[in-house]
Amino acid sequence: MNTITLPPLPASASLPQTEGNIRCEQEGEVLLLVFDRPRSSANIFDRATLLEFKEWLAHVREESGIKGLVLLSAKPSIFLAGADLNALAKLDDAGLQEFIALGQGIMSELAALPVPTVAAIHGACVGGGYEMSLACQRRIASSDRSTKIGLPETKLGILPAWGGATRLPRLIGVPGALDIILGGKVLPARAALHRGLVDEVVPVERLRELALQRVLEKAPARKHRLLHSLPVNRVLARAVAPRALAKIHERTGTNYPALEKALEVVTHGIQESVEKSLELERIGVAGLVKTEACHNLLRLMLAQEAAKKRLFAAPQPGVKVSRAVVVGAGLMGAGIAQWLASHGLAVILRDIAPERVAAGMASIEKLFAAGVKRHLFSRTEARAGMDHISPAATLVPMDRAQIIIEAAVEKMELKKQIFAQLAGTAGPETILATNTSALSVTELGAATLCPERVLGIHFFNPVHRMQLVEVVRGEKTAPEVVQRAVQFVLQIGKLPVVVRDRPGFLVNRILMPYLLEAARCFEAGASVEVVDRAMKEFGMPMGPLRLMDEVGLDICADVMATLGCRFYDHLSEAPVLPKMTASGLLGKKARRGFYRYEGRREPRVNPEVRKFQSAPHRTFTPDELQCRMALRMVNEAARCLEERVTETAGDVDFAMVMGTGFAPFRGGPLRYADSLGARKVVEELERLTETGGSEFRPCERLVRMAAHGERFYED
Ligand code: NAD
Repeated sequence: MNTITLPPLPASASLPQTEGNIRCEQEGEVLLLVFDRPRSSANIFDRATLLEFKEWLAHVREESGIKGLVLLSAKPSIFLAGADLNALAKLDDAGLQEFIALGQGIMSELAALPVPTVAAIHGACVGGGYEMSLACQRRIASSDRSTKIGLPETKLGILPAWGGATRLPRLIGVPGALDIILGGKVLPARAALHRGLVDEVVPVERLRELALQRVLEKAPARKHRLLHSLPVNRVLARAVAPRALAKIHERTGTNYPALEKALEVVTHGIQESVEKSLELERIGVAGLVKTEACHNLLRLMLAQEAAKKRLFAAPQPGVKVSRAVVVGAGLMGAGIAQWLASHGLAVILRDIAPERVAAGMASIEKLFAAGVKRHLFSRTEARAGMDHISPAATLVPMDRAQIIIEAAVEKMELKKQIFAQLAGTAGPETILATNTSALSVTELGAATLCPERVLGIHFFNPVHRMQLVEVVRGEKTAPEVVQRAVQFVLQIGKLPVVVRDRPGFLVNRILMPYLLEAARCFEAGASVEVVDRAMKEFGMPMGPLRLMDEVGLDICADVMATLGCRFYDHLSEAPVLPKMTASGLLGKKARRGFYRYEGRREPRVNPEVRKFQSAPHRTFTPDELQCRMALRMVNEAARCLEERVTETAGDVDFAMVMGTGFAPFRGGPLRYADSLGARKVVEELERLTETGGSEFRPCERLVRMAAHGERFYED
């Protein structure tokens, strides 16, 4: 029921009496609409909320006593998360067009209100939520970490069509708007302020008060808006469009039609009236929703939402983690400690020698400094983050820590010693986690007297960029400990996938055969450029040989060897890697690998590598290379599902897209397999087995699926 809690509206005011998702409050002559979806932690724009909002707008228009409108959310971490994706996915063409037009019309009504309007943003304000804010005259955001603002639609294969592609370029200029829209970017409050997406940032405690003050002010919100006047924007649009299109093609080929369409709508729309631009948005989005890329991207997003709900099916009484210990201050340990500290946790960072701890602290400082430069933190927040970390080069009491994350070198015997010691010094409830890439969590647990509290929390490199975290359930890990670890991962803003303790877990297990195949093709004569270009054209964010350089060729060789011991029938080593590492070609960290890294220049193919190719050279077509490398991933992904490394095909695909950037428009390796059909996948793998070796032999699950015409997904 809508309630008016503060002094009543003027006598003439009659409030709509709908029950629902928006609550009305009043402060003097200002009306506040508070989005507050019942029994939910999120606000979304479903049809009911849109219609309710429309009624309130009519009320504001009709009541002469209302002198200003402020839009707020009552939720602790979500302002408005955009349109209801579940509902969108089910609409037919006509239904979708009608829904888009309804939203557009309502945002236009908001923009045309005769009174000043302010969006007071606290929490996630994305997609439709930000488009509503764009239709207000001012936007004020809270500085809280939960506040995230932007237009991620192109990441779902669509474009912002409730006025986002029309109003953002008019607010911040065409180049800035293209950067946000084509990047599908969602920014923290300070970065959003820097880019002009909001007008002010204040502590959440001051948000409402400032919004009430600003809504009655006459002065325009931002002085520099004139810089983005329409004539300037038109000229810019004509200049920028061809270059932006070339960049899209260079980066992603024609795999993401939403990017080309969004570019067209923004750059043409700015040369037209607002109404005409909105029409371009409508036509553009209607074409995009039919594309396979959009279906796959939307399904990935829904799978992610479903996974979160499933993981939270039996939530524990929510004890937040506030004290952690990180053991090992190297690349990963420092990255993890920085991430935890930036999320308000008190962290002890432990290593074996003062200089190692000092090196870890120095790289943490660099990470914070880079965050300040990118407007992710203020200087004060970065300083507070550093203050949250206590370096420790000697054994310190750890009994108050709720979680200990071990990130020491990848050696089983060393890790066993560390765990045996940790179990003795930690408190009785402390979670003991390892960041190991591939070692057995169960074996580590067995080195302690409390295997039920031991599990893997596997972050990816670089920690501050990679959202996915594998939560590895050892054979003896207690379900309650897994649940607490999942909650912890969500608390620090990462996306968890729960996996069984199998060698390489899920992501590395599927990635390694792919990298191995790339190395084998290279060894057999395919040039570095040809191998990497083929997989970039397939849709991977970087080529596999370049990726190996990033990870380190020595590390790749080690992980492959670990997996090879266990899966010797299809995961042999690539001899070229040990040969290259023995010659000092370790990849980016040594400035020499498949590529050469010189200063800030784009890396170039390293001419030294030719000598590692066996003669006579073989030529591969791009199709052949894609087929060999992608199907190795498909085969391994199917094996992982068969071995129940994780529960669903959706989890496998989601983890591969989030953990490795597997061509998102293809929806993940198993969705890709479905698009080819199991029979075709098996035929190709059998052909490759005959010509290329037993590594390609299709796994039992694929063979069974091909025989019965089955798919990984039902939809
Ligand atoms: P690293 O070599 O950069 O750092 C390891 C640190 O552990 C060193 O500073 C070392 O001094 C310290 N250490 C050694 N023995 C110790 C002990 N007894 N107590 C405390 N500290 C000790 O290694 P890294 O790349 O940060 O990897 C750490 C772990 O994370 C490994 O298990 C690795 O497999 C895993 N991992 C690495 C990556 C990656 O890309 N590098 C990605 C995911 C997971």
